[in-house]
Formats: sequence, structure tokens, C-alpha cells
Amino acid sequence: MALRNIREIGDAVLTKTCKEVKEMTPRTKELIEDMLDTMYEADGVGLAAPQVGVLKRIVVIDVTGEDPYVMINPRIVEMSGEQTGQEGCLSVPGKCGIVTRPNYVKAVALDIDMKPYEVEGTELLARAICHELDHLDGHLYVEKAEGGLRDLGEPVEEEEDEE
Ligand code: ZN
Repeated sequence: MALRNIREIGDAVLTKTCKEVKEMTPRTKELIEDMLDTMYEADGVGLAAPQVGVLKRIVVIDVTGEDPYVMINPRIVEMSGEQTGQEGCLSVPGKCGIVTRPNYVKAVALDIDMKPYEVEGTELLARAICHELDHLDGHLYVEKAEGGLRDLGEPVEEEEDEE
């Protein structure tokens, strides 16, 4: 298990457009495994490669804590409805905001074996897919937060960051 450093808002890597993955390599596989470890360790429901400093179109999502989706080169092909609710991001620690997203999303992606598959989701899964895919184009939810950001309930411990 290897954890990667989660990049935070203000880091230029979070504003860049990510590149498509052309083939699965041992290095990319390791990246995906590290992304899963990092997401679970941080208690997140999703993580995009740029959040660990890698500009590749890869996201991992797990809204149930049981069965992660690994989505390579993901694309939303259908969406409908609307949901408005609280959203947070591991790259924006201690904050949350209200964001309106589609309530239903269908996406196509490649799995870790580079085989195409479809993910359909409503509610939290639909929200997570939209949020993570936005990261691949350099967008953070803070751009969409209605009425700005709020502090999360509990104070977040300040950590010395050597970066
Ligand atoms: Zn995020």
C-alpha cells in the first residue's frame, strides 16, 4: 500500500487538462492502486489523478466503501434531472459547498484492463462522477458552489507541509 500526497487548491496541477491514457503500463497500474489507497485512507468517495499530481484521465470512485469504480478516459454520455446538495473535495480540506448536479448520469470508461464499460448512477454516485470528471479538465467544485464555501463542522488540524 502506498499513499500519495493529495494536492490542494492553489496547486497549478489542479487547473490543467489531463491526457488520455493510451495503454495500461505497470506504472499506471501502480498509480491506480495508490489512488485507491489514498482515497480510502482519506475517507473520500472519489479521487482523480491530478489530485495526486498526475495529469492522466483516471478517476477512482467508491460511494459504498465496497466496490470501487476505476474509470479510465471516462466520458459522460447521458445525464438528466437535478440534485442540489453539499459537496466537498479532498483537495479543498475542511470546506464544503452547495452544488447543483444532474441526478442521473451515464458514463463510459475503460476499466483497469482497458476494456470499455458503462457506469450508471443516481444521487451520490452521479454527483461523484460529475465532480471527479471535472477534475480531469482542471475544474474544482468551488467554481460551482452556490453562495461560496463553508467550513466543515469540526476544525481541521493544521499540519506542517514541507512542499
Ligand atoms: Zn475533488
